[in-house]
Amino acid sequence: MSSGVLVIFDQNQGQVRHVVLEILTVARNLALGSVTALTFGTDASKTLNMLGEYGADQVLFWEQDPFTRYSSDGFADAIASVVPELDPAVILFPASAWGKDLSPRLAELLNAGLATDCLSLRTNEENRVIATRPMYAGKVLAEVQIDTPIQMFSIRPNINAAVPSPTTPVVLDIAPVISEDSFKAVVTERREVQSGVQELTEADIIVSGGRGIKAAENFKLLDQLAEVLGAAVGSSRPVADDGWVPHSYHIGQTGKVVSPTVYFAIGISGAIQHLAGISGSKYIVAINNDPEAPIFKVANYGIVGDLFQVVPRLTEEIRSL
Ligand code: FAD
Repeated sequence: MSSGVLVIFDQNQGQVRHVVLEILTVARNLALGSVTALTFGTDASKTLNMLGEYGADQVLFWEQDPFTRYSSDGFADAIASVVPELDPAVILFPASAWGKDLSPRLAELLNAGLATDCLSLRTNEENRVIATRPMYAGKVLAEVQIDTPIQMFSIRPNINAAVPSPTTPVVLDIAPVISEDSFKAVVTERREVQSGVQELTEADIIVSGGRGIKAAENFKLLDQLAEVLGAAVGSSRPVADDGWVPHSYHIGQTGKVVSPTVYFAIGISGAIQHLAGISGSKYIVAINNDPEAPIFKVANYGIVGDLFQVVPRLTEEIRSL
């Protein structure tokens, strides 16, 4: 019978995103048997110590070509070829852009159910996994169970704690079946897009601007606040659509889903589609000159005022601390 948890993720120069450590902790807490980590590309094996620190029992590194360049179909086919040998009960992915691209393709090949963007996982008395995930643009939290033999989940970053649980991982040598045909579309270049000082989906503090900012050049006010806070900068969708900021800033139902400790919504009205992307924030601070703006209904702290006065003063106050 299938057992254990397979955690699949990307890495860059031997570094993994924090969500990977969170997922390893989730995998251990499920207590369904061994935890196997699978990652790809140049320097993948440099993650070994980190994976051991967070409780991986077994690791699998596919470092050589064709795994140096990401390919949705190529990676999915290769992983599917080793799943029968690994025989996991559960497969976990980060709910990152990479995980969102790869996990549905693998689920289809394995004929497995997939619950995406889960906040937490637990096991029931039959050792099946129950996932809690947002539905209807974050209006409800649903508990879902997957009935296929392999249960797949992607996990939202910044929700679960990463707790060390040291192990000495065994490095497995299992070679996938590689079909050259499926590596047709590959990533040929990787460019880092700067969004404040950190990646939005992993940021602890986010300073986000909406149409109330009025013009692209006024975003420097938010950059300055973000700088003193060590925060990432985000935006509502119209601001990105108008080209005031890159699309990588766009948060919401059709953009990034974020879960920081503190989310500053500045000149953002609080439309349902925006709230869908920020409902995982622990604290929401709203700055808006309209006391009736819907954002105040979800904000933990609200400042009713003109952002062009409030934001520079806030920046100066924080800088002087
Ligand atoms: P507005 O709604 O125009 O709000 C601007 C706010 O700034 C107002 O509340 C105003 O009081 C305040 N303001 C103005 N001047 C000042 C000032 N000087 N000081 C302080 N406050 C000021 N939106 C998203 O954000 N993300 C999504 O993913 C997304 N997906 C969508 C998907 C669909 C299918 C659709 C139909 C819409 C989607 N939208 C999304 C758009 C969404 O419905 C809203 O139109 C959008 O979120 C509004 O952006 P905003 O709050 O920046 O602008």
